[in-house]
Amino acid sequence: MADSAAVQLQQPHAIMISLHLQGHINPFIHLALSLASRGFTVTFAHLHFVHRQISAAGAGDPFAGARAAGFDIRYTTLSDGLPIDFDREAHHDQFLHSFRHRLPDIVAEFVGEIIQANPSSPEFFLVADTFSIWAAEVAGKLGLVNVSFWTEPAVVFSLYYHLDLLRRNGDVPVAGRWKNVDYLPGIPSINTKDFVSYLHDSELGPIHHLLFDSFQAVRSADFVLCNTPAELEPAAISGLNETVPFYAIGPMVRESESCEIARSFLPESDCTEWLNSQPAGGVLYVSFGSFVKIDREVIGAVAGGLLRSGVRFLWVLRPGMVDSGDGDGGGSGLPEGFEIRVRGKGKVVTWCNQNQVLGNPATGGFLTHCGWNSILESIWHGVPMICFPVFTDQITNRKLVVEDWKVGVNLSGVNGGSLKEEEVAEKIGGLMEGEMRKGLKEEVEKVGKVLQAAAAENGSAAGNFDRFAAELSEQLQRRRRRR
Ligand code: UDP
Repeated sequence: MADSAAVQLQQPHAIMISLHLQGHINPFIHLALSLASRGFTVTFAHLHFVHRQISAAGAGDPFAGARAAGFDIRYTTLSDGLPIDFDREAHHDQFLHSFRHRLPDIVAEFVGEIIQANPSSPEFFLVADTFSIWAAEVAGKLGLVNVSFWTEPAVVFSLYYHLDLLRRNGDVPVAGRWKNVDYLPGIPSINTKDFVSYLHDSELGPIHHLLFDSFQAVRSADFVLCNTPAELEPAAISGLNETVPFYAIGPMVRESESCEIARSFLPESDCTEWLNSQPAGGVLYVSFGSFVKIDREVIGAVAGGLLRSGVRFLWVLRPGMVDSGDGDGGGSGLPEGFEIRVRGKGKVVTWCNQNQVLGNPATGGFLTHCGWNSILESIWHGVPMICFPVFTDQITNRKLVVEDWKVGVNLSGVNGGSLKEEEVAEKIGGLMEGEMRKGLKEEVEKVGKVLQAAAAENGSAAGNFDRFAAELSEQLQRRRRRR
């Protein structure tokens, strides 16, 4: 009797296998901490090649600090079925093939071993990214509760989730046919031009199949957790809740105060000292996130626009991000002598701690590719945006920023068209000074407060998380009784 009471008090054990992308890893780490801070035991796994890259940039065990702070987060790694030195970027289709066809067995064996090695843990559940197509199969095989984690907005989930409906109505593939769609549950109206990029394409490759099929697989998930604030997407969330056990537990932005967790693929340049020497609100932060490629012409136009505007700036240019179209890696793409001409006013780095940069009082604006984490971080810190989405959910995210929440402006080049440095300079001017800035700043601060309230101790994120935890516990109990 005493033993079974103790077992019931002990929280279940989450086995979390992260996707290999920076924009997914960051919220995944937040989720691990949220679970651990509520007393869950967490085993967190990266793929071997991800581990190697993060270790080279920072710490060997990313969670050592978290454990020292008292969180029960164990860390381990697993193979994706390919040699660690395999060039996954150059042979992306082969990587996707392995991800899709080899990982289910690898993960099932790996999870089985974790379960066997932890006989004292009462219950296990699986937490995987919604794009981890193998999660449903693995959870089914091992009889585990399947928690799917969605790291993009609810509206984007809804678009993928209703793909069959969109196809039946002839609205996907979009293929250049723009119209308003008003029949998606919880989405009063959305123009097809704002659909995620993969829904535009008529020709489907392995990546489309993987993404679309993962939305078939997610239908069997027991829970879907989403890094979005409930207050910002109420209609899309209630539309989804008609059929999906969908929990808005975002925004996952605030860093843990008790520990640091290594997460970056590239070493971070410390920009604090430089930013501290700049005037308040005077610096434009420019970043295109962790994995998009940017055309050399766009880099040239942004560089030209920065020079013309005379703005102070901090620009993240990742090695290899410039696409010259001829596959040569593209060089930096910056005009000759750029760094000398901007010395003292502008700083170019290969990677930084973005959240810290956005939170520095010197940062007054953000020219962004509209990655979902970047948007949440920018709004959180009250920083208005210039939007230059490239693909995937960035296309839909731009609409949220510019049209729904009015906390940013567009750059052309969005939905086709080329980007000119004159326009970049003009938009930078409007974002950083004058009437337009005033309006954007007011709005972004208003929405920022909504985010902060959502993430507060008694905010919607904690409320929804607690609801999820309670329902998870009930579901585990039901399964236990059935056994
Ligand atoms: N990031 C960072 N340093 C940089 C650039 C980006 O720490 O120099 C982080 C950023 O804070 C965000 C993530 O990388 O959390 C990028 O995710 P996002 O969804 O914005 O874009 P993605 O990289 O997925 O396109």
